[in-house]
Amino acid sequence: MAEKRDYYEVLGVDKNADDETLKRAYRKLAKKYHPDMNPGDKNAEEKFKEATEAYGILSDPDKRRQYDQFGFAAFDQTGGGGGFGGFDFNNMNMNDIFGDIFGDIFGGGSRYGGNSSGPQRGASLRALIHITFEEAVFGCTKEIELTLKDVCTSCGGSGAKAGTSPETCPNCHGSGQIRHTQQSIFGMVQNIETCPNCQGTGKIIKEKCPSCHGSGYTSSKKRIQVTVPAGIDDGQSIRIRDKGEPGRNGGPRGDLLVQVQVEQHPIFQRDGVNIFSTAPITFAQAALGGDIRISTVDGDVVYTVKPGTQTNTRIRLKGKGVPSLHNRNVRGDQYVTLVIQTPTNLSKEAKEALKQFDEACGGHTDTNGGGKKKKKFWE
Ligand SMILES: [Zn+2]
Ligand SMILES: [Zn+2]
Repeated sequence: MAEKRDYYEVLGVDKNADDETLKRAYRKLAKKYHPDMNPGDKNAEEKFKEATEAYGILSDPDKRRQYDQFGFAAFDQTGGGGGFGGFDFNNMNMNDIFGDIFGDIFGGGSRYGGNSSGPQRGASLRALIHITFEEAVFGCTKEIELTLKDVCTSCGGSGAKAGTSPETCPNCHGSGQIRHTQQSIFGMVQNIETCPNCQGTGKIIKEKCPSCHGSGYTSSKKRIQVTVPAGIDDGQSIRIRDKGEPGRNGGPRGDLLVQVQVEQHPIFQRDGVNIFSTAPITFAQAALGGDIRISTVDGDVVYTVKPGTQTNTRIRLKGKGVPSLHNRNVRGDQYVTLVIQTPTNLSKEAKEALKQFDEACGGHTDTNGGGKKKKKFWE
């Protein structure tokens, strides 16, 4: 066997690496070199063994301390005959490592010791609601109708006809799992799979419950109140606890996730807690100043336009925006862009007045502002 490489070097981590870093490094290597992913590849197998050994030592605080102090010599007292320089895989709790690491790698963790016969939380359900712009701003209550599954009352969820009971699955003897014991590079490894005969329930139903047709569940339409908080935005979801699918084997129900779709508003747009809109003003109002009415989500407000206001001037109405989801007393602002309307279909008198106005200005409507000295648009 080639000279052993330093465990830290094997995992590619610093001597001071914390548990999380070690785990991440090992997970990466294990995924890359796992024999299942590299069938027949001796080099990958060696790399995998090397990484597993390194992780086995460094992830155990006592062993790591010994290794830091004495190096490989710390583990030579077991006799050194095992082919791994005395590293004893049988003394390592492989379940700890596999439960922890391989659950992540292969997803779900059922492969190495998952337990499908214990209580399991029910799956989440999803629903969609449409609300108006104002309902999103101020919050509202909506009722939705859902088809919810419940444990069948006739059979108590067993799925078997009254007076009968489900029989123990002969394939898995009721465990719901099939274990395959496999000889591998570190001894015996158990793979656990869901029993295909009973789909993991451990039971076989001979005579089905007529109410639920053997499923153990009945479905019924339910009306559910959804409290939509003020400030919610398009695409956000509301979680309603325990209104999802029923749990298995006495586990709790899952949650209901209600996604909110906010309708567009003809006047207002929204960005976070701020509202944006435009307001038309006449040329005379812009030039002379004056009061205009501006729509807000709280109703119209009167705003005094300053004399000499340019088109596309943006004004801010403080506190007329959307409440924060976290604190409904804190509100954003409304930004209003004032747009000067050029008059059309002028009467004879109006045309005449405009001509006189133009002449009074010497042919220039704007001699000392606008063009050169640009105003910041939010002033
Ligand atoms: Zn039933
Ligand atoms: Zn079975």
